[in-house]
Amino acid sequence: MFGSSAAYCSACGMKVQKESGVRKFDKDFCSEEHAQQYNREIKRARQLRMSRQLSQQTPAKSKGQKGSHKCC
Ligand SMILES: [Zn+2]
Repeated sequence: MFGSSAAYCSACGMKVQKESGVRKFDKDFCSEEHAQQYNREIKRARQLRMSRQLSQQTPAKSKGQKGSHKCC
């Protein structure tokens, strides 16, 4: 019977039917579409975080570098 193993879609929160549900990334989804949507959002969040870290590490300071010759 339907017991404790009820699964819910990680994208929309709908109850996942065992016949039509998809299991990916260790999560349950109501459809392949939502699995990909979830995957896309994770990727985007990761890229956003990475680009934010990158811009923090490299402040816009490309000019103002002095040459190695201090004499002239
Ligand atoms: Zn869904």
